[in-house]
Amino acid sequence: TIDVSLYYQQLQKETYFQQKRLNALTTICFQNPPQNLSSDSLLTGVPYVLKDNICTCQIPTTASSRMLEDFIPVYDAHVVQLLKQENACLIGKASMDELSMGSTNMTALTGPVYNPWDTRRIAGGSSGGSASLVASGLATFALGTDTGDSIRRPAGFCGVVGMKPTWGLISRYGIIPYAASLDTVGVLTRSVQDLSIVLEKIAGHDFHDMTSSRLPVPHYRYNLSLDISYLKVAVIQNVVDKLKDHRIQTLFQNCVSLLKNAGASVHEISFSQTYLEAIFPVYQIIANGEATSHHACLDGIKYGFQSQGQNLEEMVIRTRSQGFHQSIQQRFILGALALKQENQKRMFQKAQKVRRLIVEEIQNILQTYDIVMVPSGEGIAPLIEEAQSQSHTLVDDYLIIANLAGLPSLTLPCGFVDDMPVAVNLMGRCFDEQTVLNCAYALE
Ligand code: GLN
Repeated sequence: TIDVSLYYQQLQKETYFQQKRLNALTTICFQNPPQNLSSDSLLTGVPYVLKDNICTCQIPTTASSRMLEDFIPVYDAHVVQLLKQENACLIGKASMDELSMGSTNMTALTGPVYNPWDTRRIAGGSSGGSASLVASGLATFALGTDTGDSIRRPAGFCGVVGMKPTWGLISRYGIIPYAASLDTVGVLTRSVQDLSIVLEKIAGHDFHDMTSSRLPVPHYRYNLSLDISYLKVAVIQNVVDKLKDHRIQTLFQNCVSLLKNAGASVHEISFSQTYLEAIFPVYQIIANGEATSHHACLDGIKYGFQSQGQNLEEMVIRTRSQGFHQSIQQRFILGALALKQENQKRMFQKAQKVRRLIVEEIQNILQTYDIVMVPSGEGIAPLIEEAQSQSHTLVDDYLIIANLAGLPSLTLPCGFVDDMPVAVNLMGRCFDEQTVLNCAYALE
């Protein structure tokens, strides 16, 4: 056995240094650094971070919200239990957009997370702390959650690999939800191989989460293969055409050439323009509607922060007005509007129907093609001051399809523009993580 205590002492110092630079952690905990490396698990002693909406026993879990600032769970999320069994070393909890709502990590209670490639820029969100700490080299892997693009957006901005697997592949027991029909736990790493190791360890059925799949978990790492000659890949050309920056176009075309050279067949197809434009409004109604319902329990009585009032109603109103960022309150208003009895048919149920149409369109494509490839967003990580006014684009919205349809989707770096990472996105069939991983492995 090797004495590794010195390594962990250095790692602790490095953690405080990176925290000063990136502001990416909400809690530093250094749970169980091993004294020696005698165990044979691949993850023994491997330093990692958890997005702060993943419950950790006796360690604060704030979801970067004032409302949960003092929340200390009395149990571990299922994924945390699994990683403990592997003796992985938890460095700390990673900052995020409040309650996972956002794509900039600017709404976190502890302030913005900085991008390690250029600290004047955002890391992206909502799993921004996770992406930033993996990119900095401090954490070998991080867990995040993805409801619309929250693993893949910051992974793209920070130049790391980020995957949201099929809905139901990983247990969500002990995860503070955003929108249950869209939420997934996922992994961020610096390589596809690392990602497949972690994914394999945390996937699988959990009797605490009835939505978790009972399918046997494949050996993703063992089955990693560079042979992609059998792959049929679709490129959504009307999404690619929307890219304004020709340098990103060129990097994307390089990926197409790489796949062709490896023997895959690549075809240009188009996605219904009407459905592309419908993605964002449909998502807004469903995600915010579900969130409003899930977070009704954050009222100052059962959980967290509590304000004063003359009576119960006033207390709850004050608690929620002071406990949540304004942008979160806006989302709750939108969600409540869509769920109001008189609006349900024309808003919430209509959104469900259009969701079905979008899902059918992508599933049709995946009957013919194994992988759908697009650029993972419109541009590089914006500067902090630009991020406040940033609006979403159709290229960005496209990633949400994987959540609407529950599909596995992986973002990986494909080059640099202005010294900042640029990324490509791969989507595959439900429970066919392996093909997505193999395709990414060939592109890496
Ligand atoms: N940016 C999207 C939102 O704000 C997605 C967030 C997520 O995936 N958690 O809702």
